[in-house]
Amino acid sequence: MLRYLLLDLDNTLYSESYGLEHEVFRRMTDYTATFLGLSREEAVARRRSRMALYGTTLEWLMSEHGFTEIEDFFATVHPAGEEEPLSADPALARVLDSIDLPKAIFTNAPMEHATRFLDRMAVSDRFEAIYDIRFNNLAGKPRRDAILRVCAACGMQPSECLFVDDVPRYVQGFIDAGGRGYLFDEVDKHHASCLPRIHSLIELAAIVADEKLGPTQQALF
Ligand SMILES: [Mg+2]
Repeated sequence: MLRYLLLDLDNTLYSESYGLEHEVFRRMTDYTATFLGLSREEAVARRRSRMALYGTTLEWLMSEHGFTEIEDFFATVHPAGEEEPLSADPALARVLDSIDLPKAIFTNAPMEHATRFLDRMAVSDRFEAIYDIRFNNLAGKPRRDAILRVCAACGMQPSECLFVDDVPRYVQGFIDAGGRGYLFDEVDKHHASCLPRIHSLIELAAIVADEKLGPTQQALF
C-alpha cells in the first residue's frame, strides 16, 4: 500500500523555466574547470564522459580526483540568495495539500539549498523531513543504498513510497530499488521514455488516490 510521497526539489517543485538549476550547473562547471585546470568546454566534456558512473558531480570529483573541499564546493555552487528568483507559491502549497500522504524531500543538493528554496516558496511546513546529500554521505540518488536509507528513515519500505523526480535515471533507480517512481516531465522532454510520467504535480493527487486503492480494489470498480 502506498503510504509516503518523496519529492525531488529542483525542477520538480518549481519550473525549470526559472533557469535556477542551469545556474547551479554553470557554477559547478566553473568550479570543476578551475579545480581540474581545464577550460569550461573541456570540463563539460570530461564530466559528461564520467557522470554515468556517479550520482553527482561532487561524487565524481571525490572518487576520481581526490577532491576534499566539500564545504567550499557547496558554498560556491549554492551561494546565499540563489533562491531570489522564486517567490511564495500558494498554488504549489494547495497541490501538496491535495495529496493525502505524508511527504519528504529527497535531494542530491545540500540542506541549506533545500531549506532556502522551500522557505522562499513558503512550503517548508508541508514536508516532514528533507533528506539531502549529506544525509546520504555525499552519495545520493540513484544509488540503491541511498534510496533504501531514505525510505527507512521515513519508516517505509520502498514499495510503500511514491517518488517523483525530473531526472530519468533517479526515477529508474528508485523503481529498481522496489519503489514506485514517476518522471516529472514538465515540457515533454522525455516523451520516448518508458518511465511513468507526469507533466504537472496536479496529476499526483489522482495517481495517489488510485495507487492507494491497490490493484484488488481497483478491479472492483
Ligand atoms: Mg531535479
